[in-house]
Amino acid sequence: MKFKVLTLFPEMIRDGLRTSITGRALENNLIELETVNIRAYSQDKHGRVDDYTYGGGAGMLMQAQPVFDAWQAQVSGRKTRTIYVTPQGRLFSQSYAAELAQEKELIFLCGHYEGIDQRVLDEVVTDYVSIGDYVLTGGELPAMVMIDAISRLIPGVLHNEESAETESFHRNLLEYPQYSRPEVWHGQKVPDVLLSGDHRKIAAWRLEQSEGLTRERRPDLYAKYERQEAVIQVLSREKRLHIHMIESLRRGRGEVIFWKDRAVCVYDPDYRLGMFTAAPGKDAASQLIAAIPQNILDEMKYVLTTDIAIYRELADRLSGDKIRIVSEGRLACYTQRTFLPVKYKDIRLLKDVDLEYLTAHREWQDADQPAERIRAKAFYGAYAEQRLVGFCGWLPDGRIGGLYVEKAFRRQGIGTSLEAFCINRQLEMGFVPYGFIPKENEVALRMQGGMGLYLSEGHVWWLERS
Ligand code: SAM
Repeated sequence: MKFKVLTLFPEMIRDGLRTSITGRALENNLIELETVNIRAYSQDKHGRVDDYTYGGGAGMLMQAQPVFDAWQAQVSGRKTRTIYVTPQGRLFSQSYAAELAQEKELIFLCGHYEGIDQRVLDEVVTDYVSIGDYVLTGGELPAMVMIDAISRLIPGVLHNEESAETESFHRNLLEYPQYSRPEVWHGQKVPDVLLSGDHRKIAAWRLEQSEGLTRERRPDLYAKYERQEAVIQVLSREKRLHIHMIESLRRGRGEVIFWKDRAVCVYDPDYRLGMFTAAPGKDAASQLIAAIPQNILDEMKYVLTTDIAIYRELADRLSGDKIRIVSEGRLACYTQRTFLPVKYKDIRLLKDVDLEYLTAHREWQDADQPAERIRAKAFYGAYAEQRLVGFCGWLPDGRIGGLYVEKAFRRQGIGTSLEAFCINRQLEMGFVPYGFIPKENEVALRMQGGMGLYLSEGHVWWLERS
């Protein structure tokens, strides 16, 4: 991810971001930062960038020309997403950060004084974003706040990939209270359950604490959480068929976009995946698609639907834009909590050096995906004769997939072990592991049953926008 910040105070941005975790990410080239001094583009001989506002009123306004020239020098033809930080913008949030973390490049425009001439904003800005309902002296702190929140969602920036997944706002809940050594401090003891070593009890206690805290401090968030839980209950009536939607909500990736009776749309903005389900019926699919806001449909890149009628409705609604059926298949989920045996022992986390192998041996939906999956610590390899011979992992939406074993090494239990290994890793993270199996892959369909996974009775369709 490359951040370009247009500002009158470049040193403030550089100094603010070069320490701690963002500093380390910059050093490791996981993020790039370029600061652009707007004053350098002033055509005024004294380097002025501001003037009085027409119509009177207190304060000065940043002029259009230097801002526009500074911006134009950064964009190469196509329109890069350009964010103007302003109290008049859409409120920044964790889900907005996740959406922006998908971009390859972001330009931030920092205002000062009374703000910036509206005419240049109209020409260059794609997103108006506020960090809260208060007025600051300049846009530098808001830009830094946003860059920090976005950066920590980029795979590899945080050392422990899971830590971004259990924090506040995950599943619309605030985080539970946490304790460190000593066990007793100022006469107050750490809650017994945390010392019990019983992970299920600890997880239940933490959820209860999170719910209580959110209900008390953020009733607005709690209402969203309750709605989401109600949707999960509806989807759980056919758990195997809806496991991808349930897990997307449980893992804090997806948001409920629409819910009425048995018609549900969950959207994963990170992966731009729309998930649809509706009761069978004449108009169910068309009513569901009609209820989805156009901006969400425009953004959607992939779709998983339990009803093929959704495909036809989408094809109609996205007139001009093509959508195609990539695959029809079934979902397989592992609903037990016991770890699976892993017979083949030499399985290791993949590293950057394995990227070439991954790209050479499998087709990927997106060219950046193998590198991104390695950075996300989501792919594991099996080694034999001191080299990599196969791999498996989980894809951006969380489903286990991408299993591959070289022909000469098949029928030795390597594939089963790789899948079991990934299932165990996901169990450790508290997830219900699941995957999508294309209907023509009979070997894989058989393999799931043998390992203790349950297949959905109904089919699902994987669609892709071109
Ligand atoms: N006159 C403007 C208004 O009333 O909306 C406020 C201008 S403010 C003093 C100067 C600059 O600080 C803005 O142009 C913006 O870039 C930045 N800024 C101030 N508060 C902000 C906030 N809550 N979120 C994002 N940016 C903010």
